[in-house]
Amino acid sequence: METLNAQYILLLEDESTIADNVVYALETEGFKVTWLMLGQEALAVLQQRDFALVILDVGLPDCSGFELCKTIRKFSDVPIIFLTARAEEIDRIIGLEIGGDDYVTKPFSPRELCARVKVILKRVSKQASELPGTEFDFVLEAAKTRISYHGQILNLTRYEYLLLTTLLEKPQQVFSRERLIELVWIDPDASFDRAVDTHIKTLRAKLRQIASQDPIKTHRGFGYSIEATCRQVLA
Ligand code: CA
Repeated sequence: METLNAQYILLLEDESTIADNVVYALETEGFKVTWLMLGQEALAVLQQRDFALVILDVGLPDCSGFELCKTIRKFSDVPIIFLTARAEEIDRIIGLEIGGDDYVTKPFSPRELCARVKVILKRVSKQASELPGTEFDFVLEAAKTRISYHGQILNLTRYEYLLLTTLLEKPQQVFSRERLIELVWIDPDASFDRAVDTHIKTLRAKLRQIASQDPIKTHRGFGYSIEATCRQVLA
């Protein structure tokens, strides 16, 4: 069946009768399947191409599926379903702990496996659509002491930068003026509440130049909070 935007699935299974049945069931559902028998081949292919999902036999001729999963997790968060020959609880727990998304115990019906594949792909695409992705309001690059707002780098004073960073680290949390002074100012005793208000005001003006909606909320008698999404870039 030829479909546009077909999703590619990598199947690692050394028993050809099982593999044949799985390939057939998945292709009937419109998936494209690459079938391999060896872990080393799979690693090479995964580093070259994107797959929507990996079905991974725990007992492969050249390595354990669990070990392979650990290696894959170092460079990819592709969903992984384990095929396990043993129904022991330990295998399931290990599989999920090392980053597997689901497991199917042999013998299994290829249709059941297909159903699991679809559930996981649906879950992943739902997560992807819920994540702000690149649509974060702010991007905080701590190592560069740089903050971008809706894609534009802000030109901030030291206190504006520190205030904004503090607020962004805990969105929605209300910080009192006293708390902000403690967290931001080098010499809290020499500062006073109005200093916070002054810097918040200039900060707001800079943000307003980029987007009309004000992400900084004033809580009368309490302090300030920020309502925004922020991606922190560590390096
Ligand atoms: Ca096997």
